[in-house]
This record gives sequence, C-alpha cells and structure tokens, in this order.
Amino acid sequence: KTVTADEIRKSVEENDVRFLRLSFTDINGTSKAVEVPKSQLDKVLTNDIRFDGSSIDGFVRLEESDMVLYPDFSTWAVLPWSDERGGKIGRLVCSVHNTDGTPFEGDPRNNLKRVLREMKEMGYSDFEIGFEAEFHLFKLSSEGNWTTNVPDHASYFDMTSDDEGARCRRDIVETLESIGFEVEAAHHEVGDGQQEIDFRFDDALTTADRVQTFKMVVREIARKHGLFATFMAKPVEGQAGNGMHTNMSLFKDGKNAFYDANNEYHLSDTALFFLNGILEHARAITAIGNPTVNSYKRLIPGFEAPVYISWASKNRSPMVRIPSAEEINTRLEMRSADPTANPYLLLAACLTAGLQGIKEGKKPMAPITSNVFEMTEEERAERGIKPLPSTLHNAIKAFKQDELLQHALGEHLTQSFIDSKNLEWSQYTQSVSDWERDRYMGY
Ligand code: GLN
Ligand code: MG
Ligand code: MG
Ligand code: MG
Repeated sequence: KTVTADEIRKSVEENDVRFLRLSFTDINGTSKAVEVPKSQLDKVLTNDIRFDGSSIDGFVRLEESDMVLYPDFSTWAVLPWSDERGGKIGRLVCSVHNTDGTPFEGDPRNNLKRVLREMKEMGYSDFEIGFEAEFHLFKLSSEGNWTTNVPDHASYFDMTSDDEGARCRRDIVETLESIGFEVEAAHHEVGDGQQEIDFRFDDALTTADRVQTFKMVVREIARKHGLFATFMAKPVEGQAGNGMHTNMSLFKDGKNAFYDANNEYHLSDTALFFLNGILEHARAITAIGNPTVNSYKRLIPGFEAPVYISWASKNRSPMVRIPSAEEINTRLEMRSADPTANPYLLLAACLTAGLQGIKEGKKPMAPITSNVFEMTEEERAERGIKPLPSTLHNAIKAFKQDELLQHALGEHLTQSFIDSKNLEWSQYTQSVSDWERDRYMGY
C-alpha cells in the first residue's frame, strides 16, 4: 500500500502528531531513532533529516559520518500512546543514505533491498515472510528494573484469563491492530511468563519493518502493565527459550512458487532446492539468526528448539519443518532463529542461501521421520545429519568460511558483523559467572 506525502501531512493534523520518530536499525538489530518536532515535517518528507552516524554500532566510517534519513512513506504509523503533555508521535521507518544521496551500504535495510533485487532478477516477485516471535514478560521491580519474577504460572495455550500477563498480551494485540497489524494468533507459550503473538505474513521488507515495530510495541505496552518484555533467547535456564520461527515462501506471477499439488508434501521442486540451500548454509545462517552468546543456550535438546541440521514434514525437532498448508500458505518454517536476530540480515541470509539452492537445483537430504534427539550418533551420521554450531564462536567461524553468506551481507555489513561479534565473544570469555563461582570457589 502506498502512502503519499500529502496523506502524511493530513494524518499529522488529524491525529495531533507533535513529534516524528524516524527509525532505522543498527548491525545488532536494535532500533534507533531520530525524533524531530512537527515543525521539521517538510524536511522529513523531502529526505533532509541528517544525523551523525559515528556512534551507531556498525555504522562507523572513518572519513565521514554524516548520514541522511530517507523515510519509507508506506510505513507511516501514528503511535497510539501519547506523552504526558498530550499529542502523538508519528513513526516512519527509514533507509539510511550517504550525503550524496546514495544508499549507505552499512544499513541492513538497504542491504535487504539489494538482495531482494537479486531475487527479482531471477524472476521471483516476492519473498513472503511470517515470523513467530516469542518473548517473556517479567515483573518490574519497585525501582522499575527487570526481575525474573513472572506475572503468571500458566503454560502452553492456557486459558488463564485474568492474570497480568494475559491482560498485557491482549493490550499488545489491540495496540498492534490499531496501527495496521493483522494479528492471527496470540497465546501463552510453554515457559513461565512466555508469550507468542503472530501477525500475518507479508513481503520480506514489510515484515522486517513490522517485527521492529512489534518489539517496540511489546516493550512499551509491557511497561504500562508494570512488566518488562524481553526477546532474549534463553532468559531462564531450565525453561523454554524464545524462538523466532521464520516462515518463508517465494512468489512468482502472483502464485506461490513453493506449492505443487502433485508433489510430496505439496512442495514444489523450487521449494526443495531452496530448502537445500538453507540446509547447506545452515551453520553460517545460524551466526545471523542466533547472534548472541545466549542464543546457543536455547539450541539444546528438550525445549522444542533445534540442535541438528535436518528437516521434516511433521516432526518438530528439526531445523526446518514443513507445516501442513495449501496454496499461498505453503512454506518452509525455519525453527532455529531467535528474536535477537537482526531481521533484515536474517532474511538477506536466508534468501541468498535459498536462491543459491535454486541455482544449483539439488534436492535436500531425506526428511527425518523420527525424533532426531532419539537417534544414536551413528544413525545421525548415516543420514548426514550434522549439528548446528554449539556456540557463537563456532557460528562466527562458519560465517567467516562461507563466502555466499558474506555476499548476502555485503562487504561493509560482513565486516561490522564480524567485528561486533568478535568483541562480544572476547568479552564473554573473559567474564566470570555465578555458575563458575558456585562450582569452583571450593577448589
Ligand atoms: N520456544 C520454542 C523455541 O525455542 C518453540 C516452541 C513452539 O513454538 N512450539 O523455539
Ligand atoms: Mg507458533
Ligand atoms: Mg511458539
Ligand atoms: Mg512455529
């Protein structure tokens, strides 16, 4: 849907919008924003808002750090909450450009657009994405900080109707709907305090933009309920972690290119080739989809998170599952990524790997029909089932060895990603945790 500058002007007046929030995303997937008063609206609408990019993670350039924001008008949203002084905030998702007007290569959003152009050159019109982002709601302390106390002790799909967690979830759903989301499902997840809200699939860029908005809304509404929302992959040991299942399909000539009624699982050859590309590059994709030290504490047996590179039609233990669905809903569900992933980088990585799979035209390994966790190591080896990386360090190593995935990010983002993750890993290896003190102090 297109939105014109005039429509935005009109909406600003009608909704008493007093501030304009121009958002973009850094290398770590964190939303950043420049906020300007309404008096700057003309500049906003003519790509004339500048900012200093030198303090943004992954943006640093030696020569020049001035950047320009190019808002994508179709992302216009009037945030339903207002500040204490009244008046609303209007939000636009932006692409970051250089002062000469060219798209800045270090902007993950620009990079996804570039990869989508490569897809179009191969004859596909859309990469359709549905995310299922899970999160935890914890109680805030009296000082307003997070705790690990939960507002409920419900479980998967529990119908508990009047605890604070459920009230908060409903408030989030209604807020999302008021800014144009089509929420298809919302339910309590397996973990204490764990929730999931799914909104309808759409093209990759729209969905990546939306998941950033989604996180902002979830955090904001949680605070109103005295709760703290986290998308951290594994907030509490021994409990379910937060995944961000990534449902993917390619469209061509208005039709789902992954659907073929005459094939097994109703998956077209194109879908199987794409799947093979994902599986072949799975280890490097994991670096992007599971980009924190903590992400790897989720990828263990026992919590419905994948550990092995494999696929299946029904079983939920492998990395990729084929949900039963027809026509436009036929898709691959990649279950490995978690919501700490930068969605723009994640989709660029998956799309590049999948398109490469289509170019190579190879079918994937046989689907597994039993639980991968219950196979012996020999059985897994026989079937060619390899494990996902077990640590951030191993995932980054895989990424450094995968030229295709580096191409998916482009030179600038590849370098900033590796730099940022090397630093994170080195800080982690130097830290001494409570677990270590509990275990070794008596030595
Ligand atoms: N929380 C699980 C994970 O870590 C997923 C559970 C589910 O959605 N079935 O991926
Ligand atoms: Mg789900
Ligand atoms: Mg779930
Ligand atoms: Mg799912």
